Amino acid sequence: MFNGRYGIDELGRFMLIVAGILVVLRLFIDVHALSVAAVILLILVYSRAFSRFFDKRRAENMKFLEMKDKFTGGRQNGGFGKPGAAPKNDGKRVLICPYCKEKLRVPVGAGTIKINCPHCHRQFEETV
Ligand SMILES: [Zn+2]
Repeated sequence: MFNGRYGIDELGRFMLIVAGILVVLRLFIDVHALSVAAVILLILVYSRAFSRFFDKRRAENMKFLEMKDKFTGGRQNGGFGKPGAAPKNDGKRVLICPYCKEKLRVPVGAGTIKINCPHCHRQFEETV
């Protein structure tokens, strides 16, 4: 279907989500502009998806990703102790207690360890 066409990228997906949110909002708020905006977004998504100007579409997508990175604080410092994330604190990793969400520092490389949360005094296992 998208043979030789640009298809849906991150920006397209984001616009689809926004359009979906607008449609849902329209169910609760009686503002005609919401449906108009949703329709305009959908038209934009489809015209981008079937576009043959790949370079322009890619440039738009890059701009969107840059804006998103600024908005979310960048990719480099996102997430908590994700696998493959560079350890910032030498030999220690920050875990989040699954019960009370307290941040705990544990030594890296100890294998599967039982952690006693000093905050809520519950125990959980984690591989570090
Ligand atoms: Zn806890």
